[in-house]
Amino acid sequence: QAKEAGRGGYCFFAPEMNQRLQERRALEVDLRNALASGGFRLAFQPQINLEDERIIGAEALLRWERPGVGNVPPDQFIGIAEETGLIGQIGAWAIHEACRQAATWPEPMGVAVNVSPVQFRQPGLCECVTAALEHSGLPASRLELEITEGVLLNDTEETLATLERLRRLGVKIAMDDFGTGYSSLGYLQKFPFDKVKIDRSFVRNLGQDPNAGAIVSAVVGMSRALGVRANAEGVELREQAALLLAQGCEEVQGYFFARPMSGEALRELLAAPVGQAA
Ligand code: C2E
Ligand code: MG
Ligand code: MG
Ligand code: MG
Repeated sequence: QAKEAGRGGYCFFAPEMNQRLQERRALEVDLRNALASGGFRLAFQPQINLEDERIIGAEALLRWERPGVGNVPPDQFIGIAEETGLIGQIGAWAIHEACRQAATWPEPMGVAVNVSPVQFRQPGLCECVTAALEHSGLPASRLELEITEGVLLNDTEETLATLERLRRLGVKIAMDDFGTGYSSLGYLQKFPFDKVKIDRSFVRNLGQDPNAGAIVSAVVGMSRALGVRANAEGVELREQAALLLAQGCEEVQGYFFARPMSGEALRELLAAPVGQAA
């Protein structure tokens, strides 16, 4: 009947809204099932020390093969996971799994795990990290948490206190997607990040758009002055890597060096005689 009403013109949005609501509910149900039945995996994208092009760590990226649908990229389900609060459990799983796998990598390979703002604000993050380190035996110094400015937006005492507690555990804190927010620079002043990850929207135009080059070189220069490590995301071309190296950027990630891969593929890569990207 809703459809009829839609044709009548006074209730045209109802069927669509209803459909979207149902899709969201179905997504939530499937996410819950995935949590309960081990339906998530982590992919790992190598992080490369630019000077010698050696793999020094990997970023853990959530992968979900939704039954009957196929691979759903995280950008398409993290939002719902946040709205439903499921992100706490999904994120906790990711931290535990990333630590478990990283503990099998040769030292001093590190692992970076993304933490959503909602997950960050839920209670128990520090406890989760402590437990994951204990269970896996991974030294805290080899775990890095990536947060976005969404975490710092409501920069309360509590946010800073949590960051400091994490820091005291010995884990590293990286600011992800740097430059895309409103106040990225301001946040650098408020908390001593270990790493800044330059968003790939800036890296993409390196070598073509002089403005992109100016921004990247300014961020790299500022990071060096602050003693913060700079990582450039989304390096797809040799020329981009060369420009970043010339600008003094320490670390890169991107398809040019390596795509996200299974934990098994990464272990094979690390064990290979050359053992390195390029
Ligand atoms: P991010 O943390 O900024 O991760 C980088 C994204 O860029 C990844 O997409 C990665 O596959 C992609 N990427 C890496 N190199 C290149 C490149 O050279 N070119 C291009 N075009 N893309 C590249 P992915 O895996 O789809 O993840 C998207 C976002 O989802 C992540 O952005 C992160 O914000 C979020 N995410 C992923 N895993 C988790 C997780 O475990 N927890 C939370 N809270 N968020 C996650
Ligand atoms: Mg990230
Ligand atoms: Mg990023
Ligand atoms: Mg992102």
